[in-house]
Amino acid sequence: MQKLSRGTKIVVASHNKGKVWEIHQLLEPYGLDAVSAGDLNLAEPEETEATFEGNARLKAVAAAKGSGLPALADDSGLEVEALGGAPGIYSARWAGPEKDFGLAMQKVADEITARHGWPAPGMYGLGPRANFISVLCLAWPDGTTQMFEGKVFGHLVWPPRGGNGFGYDPMFVPEGDARTYGEMPPAEKYADSHRTRAFAAFKRDCLDQIAAAPAAGKIAGRDLAALVAAAGSLSTREELAQFVMRLREDYQLNRAAWPSQTLDDYLASLQGYLGDMPEANDPKWRTMAKVLLAASLYE
Ligand code: IMP
Repeated sequence: MQKLSRGTKIVVASHNKGKVWEIHQLLEPYGLDAVSAGDLNLAEPEETEATFEGNARLKAVAAAKGSGLPALADDSGLEVEALGGAPGIYSARWAGPEKDFGLAMQKVADEITARHGWPAPGMYGLGPRANFISVLCLAWPDGTTQMFEGKVFGHLVWPPRGGNGFGYDPMFVPEGDARTYGEMPPAEKYADSHRTRAFAAFKRDCLDQIAAAPAAGKIAGRDLAALVAAAGSLSTREELAQFVMRLREDYQLNRAAWPSQTLDDYLASLQGYLGDMPEANDPKWRTMAKVLLAASLYE
C-alpha cells in the first residue's frame, strides 16, 4: 500500500471552497499540501454510482488520474431508516436545482408521513431514526483506493429547528442530545460529526504514521532522534524529569524550530494531541513523555 509522506501534494476532489479549506487545515500540520480540483481545472465527474463509497471513489480516482497526484474525495448524506435509507446518495439532489433544503426537508417529512405516518412521540419523545454518513476515499494515480467512513445516529424532528449548519441540520437530533444540529453552535457539531469521524479514521490510518517520520532525524537543529528514543524507553518518574529537562534545553536552543511559539500554542497542541492520540499500553511516565514531545512537534 502506498503511503503519504511530508511534502506530498494531495488533490481535494471538490470545487467547494469550504470543504477544500477544511481538508487543508487537517493536512497542513503533517507537512502535506492540499490543492483543489478546481485550481487544477479538473472537471467534476457526475455522481453516477449507487453508493456513497462508489461516488467517493469515482470522484477521487478521476482527480488522481487527472492530476497524477493522490486525491481525496468525500460523499455524504442523510439516511432515514423508515425510508429504506433515502434520501441517501440523493441528499443533495432532493433539494432540486435551487438547492432548497427547506423543500428537501419537507419532502423527507412528507414521505415519512405518507408511508408510515409521522410517529407519535414515543416514550422518549423521539421521531424517526436517521443517520448522517460521510465516506472519504483516498485514491492514487494508479487507481488504488482506501476508504474511510463516519456515521452519526440520531432521530428526526418536525418542524425543523434552528438556523445553524446547512442541509438537513435543522431536522436532525444526534443521539445523546436534545438539540438539532441547526440549534447547536457549529463548533459543537464539528467536534464529532460524521465528517469528523471519517477524517479521524483517515488520520489514524494515513497521517499518524507521518507523525513518526520526522522523528527519525534532525529538524533545524533539533535532535529528535535522541528525544524520541528517550521518550520511547523511559520508565520512571526520575527519567521523565530528566526527559523534561532535555525538552526544555531543546526549546532554549532551537526555539525557532518549534511549531509552538507561545505557551498557549504549546498547550493547544498538547490538548489536540491528547484528544486523538492512540491508546497506549506504555508505562504511564513513558506515555506522558511521548505526549509532551508530540506536542512540541506539531501545531
Ligand atoms: P455531497 O457530499 O457534497 O455530495 O452532498 C451531501 C449532501 O448531504 C448535502 O448537500 C446535504 O444535503 C447532505 N449533508 C451531508 N452532510 C450534512 C450535514 O452535516 N448536515 C446536513 N446535511 C448534510
